[in-house]
Amino acid sequence: MNGIRLSEKYAAFTTEKPFDFTKRSTIGCGGFAPVAFYPKTAEECITLVGYLRTDGFPYQVLGNLSNVLPKSGESDGVVISTKSLKGISFSNGVFVEAGVTSGALLSACKKRGLSGAEFLVGIPCTVGGALYMNAGVAGAYIGELVESVTVIREGELTVLPRSACEYAYKHSAFMQNNDFILGAKLALEEADEASVLVKLKAYADRRKHLPKGKSMGCVFKNPPNAVAGRLIEGAGLKGLRIGGAVVSEMHANFIVNDKGATSEHIQALIAVVKNAVFAQYNVRLEEEIRYLE
Ligand SMILES: Cc1cc2nc3c(=O)[nH]c(=O)nc-3n(C[C@H](O)[C@H](O)[C@H](O)COP(=O)(O)OP(=O)(O)OC[C@H]3O[C@@H](n4cnc5c(N)ncnc54)[C@H](O)[C@@H]3O)c2cc1C
Repeated sequence: MNGIRLSEKYAAFTTEKPFDFTKRSTIGCGGFAPVAFYPKTAEECITLVGYLRTDGFPYQVLGNLSNVLPKSGESDGVVISTKSLKGISFSNGVFVEAGVTSGALLSACKKRGLSGAEFLVGIPCTVGGALYMNAGVAGAYIGELVESVTVIREGELTVLPRSACEYAYKHSAFMQNNDFILGAKLALEEADEASVLVKLKAYADRRKHLPKGKSMGCVFKNPPNAVAGRLIEGAGLKGLRIGGAVVSEMHANFIVNDKGATSEHIQALIAVVKNAVFAQYNVRLEEEIRYLE
């Protein structure tokens, strides 16, 4: 994408040039994309995707960059940030746009007396990222709340019922199809504010042991019948460091950027962890995080 030149038609969109992955990602490393677009409406998203497809510019749709490892140097495409898609509508069920953060969704639910999404408390995600990753905790996942997801697929607005989203543990159909998630209709239940607050507190309390600092959350998926963090801890890897990247002492499935880790440090540490766990347990860990191009 070196020296990307955008024609006049792109002037209608809010942009950021360059887009610095070190500043924008929760892991705090990586290079830059030449430009990021911040479309504000579904119509703008469709127009933008149409332009990019016609002009042959690759793009990555990103939310809060809390589960991604950006690469060093210049990225292969432009970024479409969902951060300006912030609408929540309660008129015909609950429709939440992709860029709504978990915090904004939960505070709207609290006000309206709606329950069901409390498990998202403290997950630093947008709804779009959560729908893509099937985010959740303690056996509760966002896929279970989905009635339908609205996407741009092959340039067209498409509404997918939950059955078409292929939700499973840390999996969704969006990982295979290059869909742009615009938002979702969620099934939430009416509840009084006090009971919503009790649930929020219970989920928030469970997160107190999680490491602070720059990370991507859990790096690896739990293998069948095992817990990735326990395997990593059992292999004696807590505290292992490569450059500025460290396997957290608090939670072995977290890699923390402690003082200037580069993407290469983190990738090297991931490789060491995978090899050590395989050598000790004959288990191949798979990354939950997504590598950005
Ligand atoms: C401290 C910490 C704690 C965490 N705890 C949890 C936890 O308890 N449970 C859990 O499940 N996760 C957890 N995570 C991981 C992460 O927050 C989730 O995976 C979250 O859903 C990612 O959302 P995001 O908006 O940051 O997505 P991003 O990281 O921006 O993107 C993730 C992937 O989704 C794609 N994507 C994002 N938005 C869209 C869209 N609108 N359309 C198409 N594709 C899109 C991106 O291309 C990328 O491949 C944690 C992370 C951190 C840093």
